[in-house]
Amino acid sequence: MDGDLLNKYNLKNFTYRMNWEITRKCNFSCSYCVNKQGFNEFETPVFSPEEIAGFFKNTSKEWLILITGGEPFTYPNFAEVCQKLAEDHYLQITSNLSLPEVYDFADIVNPQKVFMLSASFHSLERKEKAAREEFFNKCDYLKNKGFNVVVNYITHPDSMDKMEEEIKSINEKGFETFAIILRGNVRGKTYPEAFSENDMKIIKPHVIDFDIETKAAFGKLNYYGHKCEAGSKYFFVKPNGDVSRCATLQKKIGNLFDGTIVSDKQELPCIANNCNDVYCGLASVLPQKANRFRINKEKKKYNNL
Ligand code: SF4
Ligand code: SF4
Repeated sequence: MDGDLLNKYNLKNFTYRMNWEITRKCNFSCSYCVNKQGFNEFETPVFSPEEIAGFFKNTSKEWLILITGGEPFTYPNFAEVCQKLAEDHYLQITSNLSLPEVYDFADIVNPQKVFMLSASFHSLERKEKAAREEFFNKCDYLKNKGFNVVVNYITHPDSMDKMEEEIKSINEKGFETFAIILRGNVRGKTYPEAFSENDMKIIKPHVIDFDIETKAAFGKLNYYGHKCEAGSKYFFVKPNGDVSRCATLQKKIGNLFDGTIVSDKQELPCIANNCNDVYCGLASVLPQKANRFRINKEKKKYNNL
């Protein structure tokens, strides 16, 4: 794919980016779910669309809000939340598109303010013809309303034999695709390590950037010591509102819901050996390295984690 989608959907076009895991609830229960979704680690507080818009307004910034989960559409009044947020911000949503509220979203949210709708196609969860049709009906509806729908295909050992055919069929329906390399356990085997050479050959042309994906999947996406905008222009938010620099370095630096986010004025050094934020991290990391003093100062903040 040679990074085509990265150029087309360039996160760097947005100065401020918030990666918001709005909930851990999900109506699917994929056995391979990397975040062990499908159950609650902690209660998700629920706010009205107006309250949520107020939390972001308090930051006095225009954000690209990357909303993930769990399944975002399980959050009460999610379509209205997005409608309200899109008045002042841009959105990217990742969803399995399984809930009927997707149609409400398509009807009331301004598509010009939605950078990308990343529709997760779970081949194994959508084995039945009706379940597939339901997914593509929603994709079509969103597309016809003017949304940028990109289908992300979850790789899995049990669907390797039909992956190419399925991606081709999705492309023929008029949707761009990218594959996500599975990270997790299936029948006692750890992936991606357990994918065969042949599996990786099948996967390679379909991921956004094979080099980045494999480094991330094998724990080698290393920007240690580089200056990174995580903590100054990019943040990660948990369902309880706790804010950290990024999803990798999860030391609390404030809370979105009580208006206590503390952003640094300058870029801080990365002190992680593998960036789990992948493309958000890539958009935030700078080529310059920080000096040893600043790296040690940052490391001290994480000593008690
Ligand atoms: S749809 Fe996504 S969030 Fe939900 S259980 Fe499956 S992998 Fe996890
Ligand atoms: S490079 Fe990745 S892990 Fe490091 S600070 Fe930036 S976002 Fe976080």
